[in-house]
Amino acid sequence: MRWIDGHCDVLWKLWDAREPISFYDAKSPLDVRFPDARAAGIGLQVFALFVSPKVPRDSAWDAVLRQVDLFYEVIVRDGSEVTAVSSSAELENLKSSGKMGALLSLEGADALSGDLYRLRVLYRLGVRQLGLTWNHANEAADGVEEDRGGGLTRFGRKLVEEMVRLRMILDVSHLSERGFWDVMEFSDAPVIASHSNCHAVCPHRRNLKDDQIRALVEKEGIMGITFVPQFVHEPKEEAAVEHLLRHIDHVCELGGERILAFGSDFDGISHKVKGLEDVGGFPFLEEQLLKRYPEEWVRRWMWDNWYEFYRKHLS
Ligand SMILES: [Zn+2]
Repeated sequence: MRWIDGHCDVLWKLWDAREPISFYDAKSPLDVRFPDARAAGIGLQVFALFVSPKVPRDSAWDAVLRQVDLFYEVIVRDGSEVTAVSSSAELENLKSSGKMGALLSLEGADALSGDLYRLRVLYRLGVRQLGLTWNHANEAADGVEEDRGGGLTRFGRKLVEEMVRLRMILDVSHLSERGFWDVMEFSDAPVIASHSNCHAVCPHRRNLKDDQIRALVEKEGIMGITFVPQFVHEPKEEAAVEHLLRHIDHVCELGGERILAFGSDFDGISHKVKGLEDVGGFPFLEEQLLKRYPEEWVRRWMWDNWYEFYRKHLS
């Protein structure tokens, strides 16, 4: 069976590296490298454009554009093995072409510096998904690590309205709880949490509370279960696949079989869940899932849920 992985930070690593890193070399230091991704059955990989807070704010826009360039130059190249996906037609073509799809997503609106023209430019470059914040506050909203817990700002609302006009997908992973509910209340944007787990299973503030998960179910969004050890289990050093399965059980208990999917966060994490050290761990996860759940469900979580969602919402 094939996988869709809803989040990785390969582009950040490519941008941040002193020496050029290859995506296609089997010996590449990346968690997600092409030979292993293909062998593991990754059919579509979402690539985040992420700029760490260590980068000066006035360089963030440049860093995002350079990552877009790396996406096309290093990942997609001539399109013979990996193909950029930004429409439902391109998504549907994946099956017959046998190529791996690659979708661009912006993680945090910081680089927009409060100007919507930058959102429109990114859309034209193929970005179809945007998370309003990383962990901190920006012009659009507060992230989960801001103690004041603010919601969307006036710019944040304008940004979401423009995303709805462009038909972009809104990612609530990293967003403050109040921001989450602001989005749910006033926006019709298709909503996902690309890489978040269950707070009831592992009480980390990056994880979603039950009422948030129920709201995602109601909105027919997607919740990408993620492999970040501290969001999987406490203590994080012991995090294993069996703990990840508890999150899956919990989402199912809340009626979320149809929103359940995966967003690894590979290349964005330095510690790993046992057995899920890199993209080569996906087949092991598949095996564990098939031991516990009906094949039809597993197929849904690996592929169908993301696929149906993107087919519906990528214009
Ligand atoms: Zn993230």
